[in-house]
Amino acid sequence: MIVFIFIFVIVVNLILKSELDSYVFLKNKVTINQTNFEIHKAYVNGHWDKAKLDDIGTKLLKNGIALEVLDKNNKIIWSISKELSKTDNFKYNIKKKHINYINILKNENIAKERFPIYSDEEELIGYKVFVYDKDIFYLTHDIEFLNKINKTLIILTIVSIMSILAIALLVAKNIANPINKVSNITKFMKKGEYRYLNYDGNIEEVKDLILSINNLSEALQNQENIRKRLITDISHELKTPLTSMHGHLQAIIDGIWDPTTERLMSIDKELMRIVTLIDQLKNLNKLEHEPISKGNVDLEEMILTVVCNYQATALKKNVSLYTELECITAYVDEFKLYQVINNIISNAIKYNTIGGMVNIKLYEDEYNIYINVKDSGIGISEDDIDYIFERFYRADKSRSRSNEGLGIGLTISNMIIREHGGEIIVNTKLNEGSEFVVRIPK
Ligand code: ADP
Repeated sequence: MIVFIFIFVIVVNLILKSELDSYVFLKNKVTINQTNFEIHKAYVNGHWDKAKLDDIGTKLLKNGIALEVLDKNNKIIWSISKELSKTDNFKYNIKKKHINYINILKNENIAKERFPIYSDEEELIGYKVFVYDKDIFYLTHDIEFLNKINKTLIILTIVSIMSILAIALLVAKNIANPINKVSNITKFMKKGEYRYLNYDGNIEEVKDLILSINNLSEALQNQENIRKRLITDISHELKTPLTSMHGHLQAIIDGIWDPTTERLMSIDKELMRIVTLIDQLKNLNKLEHEPISKGNVDLEEMILTVVCNYQATALKKNVSLYTELECITAYVDEFKLYQVINNIISNAIKYNTIGGMVNIKLYEDEYNIYINVKDSGIGISEDDIDYIFERFYRADKSRSRSNEGLGIGLTISNMIIREHGGEIIVNTKLNEGSEFVVRIPK
């Protein structure tokens, strides 16, 4: 901006000078034309009126033009140089006020214009000679005008530069500084240190940026925690069955236990638990990468199949399953949607209390299809609710470990429903129950 201002001032100055040059040039021409007529008038009754010529000559001199009036025999009648040396008073006035322009008489670079003077009767009475600087020259008031403009420009430049500096400082303080802080925070993030950034300014965009960075930092921190917990969880999930299997096998090898079918089946059960866990992990990976493949699916039938599959599990917990299903066919990915319904219904039973109940509804409106699974189970705390869709998140770590979940069922379900352009809405209250509503746009 400073460079721009300098360029601006220089351009304005150049334009002004060139405009002033044309103006001065025109003004000199006008003055010569005006005085032409006046000189003619100074010739009265065959005589030259010296006083009038003094007036005209002074006026011309003030405009930077030296005048000489000659008679028809080229004898000087009136000349500014002569008059300047004649009276001190005249000289003084001229010198004091227009000292700069006296010099034009001594100037080498002068132009002389000579014109004949005719009387009213068209008779040649003499000549007038105008002497002036060939180059454009400025008079005192022109220079004063130019100086005034230049002074104003200089003041404007200083004021603008100061304002720019003030604005730059303000911008630096309000924008650049927070951005620098954000940049530093991201460097820490790269190293795995997640910090919270405080911002007390009032620039909306910066506020948004810092809010996003803080959210990002929080999300990364959560991911980091989830990742750490995942390692603990997976190693724990693997270690428990492996230790148990090892104990059983050791006892059989040492001859303490007989390898009965019952014991071998118990070892096989533990083995299958590991296989299920690995399958779940593989499933997550597969679902993430497999493209969606839609077809017409009878949702009522699909839900009834899932409910049927879970009847035995529910019975073990004494959980009652109720259904209220409309006959709806939807254009969805059958395999993927089955995973979702399966997961949500299984959760509703898994996280239910003994003797609880699960209500499953299927209905539609003009634009959407809804699958509503409501349970009277343990509910989810407010702290956990934001994270249940995160990969490997389990609300109550110690409690849910016994429930054999890996914390990826809802992640997969959410991913699938989003792929269908819908959403999963959760309403829950700790110790009272949860309601999962799957909305799929038609
Ligand atoms: P998991 O395999 O652990 O069940 P999910 O992704 O299906 O994993 O669920 C994530 C977590 O959300 C669960 O560990 C559980 O704490 C909580 N949750 C899911 N559904 C319910 C429910 N119906 N009632 C209470 N908590 C639930």
